[in-house]
Amino acid sequence: MTDGARAATGPGRTPREVATHCPYCALQCGMTLREEAGRVAVLPRQFPTNRGGLCQKGWTAAELLDHPDRLTTPLLRDPASGELRPASWDAALDRIVTGIGAVQSGHGRDAVAVFGGGGLTNEKAYALGKFARVALRTKHIDYNGRFCMSSAAAAGMRAFGVDRGLPFPLADLGRADTLLLVGANPAETMPPLVRWLTEQRERGGRLIVVDPRVTATARQADLHLQPLPGTDLAVANALLHIALTEGWVDRDYVAARTTGFEAVRRGVAGWWPARAEALSGVPVADLEATARALGTAERVIILTARGAEQHAKGVDTVTGFVNLALALGLPGRPGSGYGCLTGQGNGQGGREHGQKADQLPGYRKIDDPVAREHVAGVWGVPADELPGPGVPAYQLLDSLGTPAGPKALLVFGSNPVVSAPRAARIEGRLRDLDLLVVADFLLSETAALADVVLPTAQWAEEDGTMTNLEGRVLRRHALRPPPAGVRTDLAILADLTTRLRTLGRAPSYTESDKKVPFLTPLQGGADASDPRVVFAELRRASAGGIADYGGVSWERIDERDGVFWPCPTEDGPDTPRLFADRFATPDGRARFHPVEHRPAAEEVCAEYPLHFTTGRVLAQYQSGTQTRRVAALRRAAPDAFVELHPDLGARLGVGDGEPVRVVSRRGEFCAPARLSTAIRPDTVFAPFHWGGAARANSVTNDAVDPVSGMPEFKICAVRLERVD
Ligand code: SF4
Repeated sequence: MTDGARAATGPGRTPREVATHCPYCALQCGMTLREEAGRVAVLPRQFPTNRGGLCQKGWTAAELLDHPDRLTTPLLRDPASGELRPASWDAALDRIVTGIGAVQSGHGRDAVAVFGGGGLTNEKAYALGKFARVALRTKHIDYNGRFCMSSAAAAGMRAFGVDRGLPFPLADLGRADTLLLVGANPAETMPPLVRWLTEQRERGGRLIVVDPRVTATARQADLHLQPLPGTDLAVANALLHIALTEGWVDRDYVAARTTGFEAVRRGVAGWWPARAEALSGVPVADLEATARALGTAERVIILTARGAEQHAKGVDTVTGFVNLALALGLPGRPGSGYGCLTGQGNGQGGREHGQKADQLPGYRKIDDPVAREHVAGVWGVPADELPGPGVPAYQLLDSLGTPAGPKALLVFGSNPVVSAPRAARIEGRLRDLDLLVVADFLLSETAALADVVLPTAQWAEEDGTMTNLEGRVLRRHALRPPPAGVRTDLAILADLTTRLRTLGRAPSYTESDKKVPFLTPLQGGADASDPRVVFAELRRASAGGIADYGGVSWERIDERDGVFWPCPTEDGPDTPRLFADRFATPDGRARFHPVEHRPAAEEVCAEYPLHFTTGRVLAQYQSGTQTRRVAALRRAAPDAFVELHPDLGARLGVGDGEPVRVVSRRGEFCAPARLSTAIRPDTVFAPFHWGGAARANSVTNDAVDPVSGMPEFKICAVRLERVD
């Protein structure tokens, strides 16, 4: 029985319940799980973010607990047949440790890499980073959050000195007079959030959406700007240009709370509205109406999401909207601000505690000597023994199995075979590895390639914490233990660490290596597989950092509706709203950065004349490993599709429902056509939740943002072909 579970008085009679949160997206809707006679039901729960609402994914999340596809035993690839075969835990873990030893003795420590996920709890993300740096002693760790939120994170860091998706509670959205959503479609990706949009409009507020498609969210907007994909930055600069011309810039705020405005002012001077219209297709009148709604209202919020971020200029695009928000004096003003809608369930916490290539816990930089000393002190290792920064996710994946790249990879909670850009190339890289290990509870497309598959616990079977899109740290409560044969990620990491220490003495390990105490602070009676123990250490490791969890206890989270970081002391306040008095920069001022529009990494041409963009649908989640196996979600969204305008369909002779092939310079995929006027005639859309022949990421571009390393999922050049 876990902390949050209500006791059962008799097996199978009195239901057991826990108050927890949905396993999927960053809204982390509150829900109650009830187990009765072995069956688990999801019940709605009042929580400040979702107010009792859940989407179809949340309602059906428990179906996977007892799903027939559930992995309940490790799998080892049989060298003779090439098939994955059931194996004991000892055999599987020994195979991993032997493989790690062989690879590191032959190629050095950095020849082993770790790839994490934005769905892992804070405790797992922390333990994974520590495992990589202290047990494996490799610099190579990164995670799939690099594909989701990293451009807004980088833009937030350079402007505000801190990266917290929303620097204010979600409820502020409902009170905004003007709300601008850029590249965000919460009506499909996090439907309970729409309640706040509805409330906002019922109070007389204006909702403006910037999106190349007429999405479910755009249909609710008072004004929809439908730019050509890849031109959001031009729109942002034009809006600031208009605000300057009309005198809507908050000069007092800019003078008192920011630096660098003059360079931005000069930069946007050239972005007169007609120029932006010519580039983006957004009419001047709509640009002017948007700028007026932003510049003349009292409470104004600007939000960006993946549509603005997933570009080779994603950091600059987000920065364009941050500049606009700063010029209007929004961040830190009550009821106003700029924020990013984080995507993955623990996308926020997952990027704070050390599974990013360049970070240590507490959002510390791994190349900062003071940060290294602090974290090394908590870990009980010399600071100079900690590896330096690794490389971002796509660069890491694209180097696997190459002469200079890692030869072994351990994957936790990720499915890059479906979710990575230019996915066929990444699939090839994974096949080239000497050792691929995947820990998951279902046989994902990536797990199917692995040499070793480790069956892991699901969200309802483990305790821990998640940090939602508001920076609110939440408790995940276990309803029941994992099934026989299944282990938690923390238990796997603890066991691997022990085996590496006692068995994995690869020949090239030096005497100094042997002295390194791999998980010292968790030894001496403390159990490294206990999430409460790991969280206690995470608090110490993050203390004093940007994302300071020092005062966040599980008890405190349970007593209230979560705790907002930074929260340095247990008896001090947490921080629902940032920036009221100062920003997290050395001088306390936010920083403007001049940013210029530039073309997409790949432009359309005669051979590939259409823009291609990807996204999500309501009933599926990320790479679909989980949601494609839930019956109700499969019924709602059974297959991939290619959305195209009827005029384009007519030109190509493609009817609704007929299969089409989407071809880029990198590959192709096939799916039925879905004709819709919701999309521009020059643009094609497909969801990325499916693998195999319908894998949208077979065609996406692997160009990445130079600052964040985020790939350009949102635009590339393709052609469509009829499939006869
Ligand atoms: S909106 Fe997100 S957190 Fe809420 S139920 Fe749906 S998937 Fe789960």
